[in-house]
Amino acid sequence: MHPKPKSGTSSDGRPMHFSVGAVIRKDGKYLLIDRVREPFGFAGLAGHVDEGETPEEALIRETEEESGLKVVSHALLFEEEVLWNYCGAGVGSHYWYLYSCEVEGKERKEDGEAKSMGWYTPAEMKNLKMEPVWEYWFRKMGVL
Ligand SMILES: [Zn+2]
Repeated sequence: MHPKPKSGTSSDGRPMHFSVGAVIRKDGKYLLIDRVREPFGFAGLAGHVDEGETPEEALIRETEEESGLKVVSHALLFEEEVLWNYCGAGVGSHYWYLYSCEVEGKERKEDGEAKSMGWYTPAEMKNLKMEPVWEYWFRKMGVL
């Protein structure tokens, strides 16, 4: 896959960022953080693709930065422009690469992105306030 720039233009002509997300499942539970920053809610590990970085590199880096976990394998679930997904930098559309990940290590809350980090069953997730884009992904996966 070719490197993608962090910034681009959405299909409707607005500034767009590129993002990666990690779906990490263990024993029927998903690893979620309760986000410190907007957009608030429970979310998978995620972040921007930096300039000159491939989505896979960003996935591995963000997962490590946010959780300390090492991605040992990954599979692309969805690749999609989300025109209604904003970030703290005020950019209102994001092009997402969402991956299912196998990881090694013990998760630890890192780098100030999360109020908490934990493993949740789909039944528990139905009672959480999910970050909208993650509610969208988990619905699309048939988890919610
Ligand atoms: Zn952004």
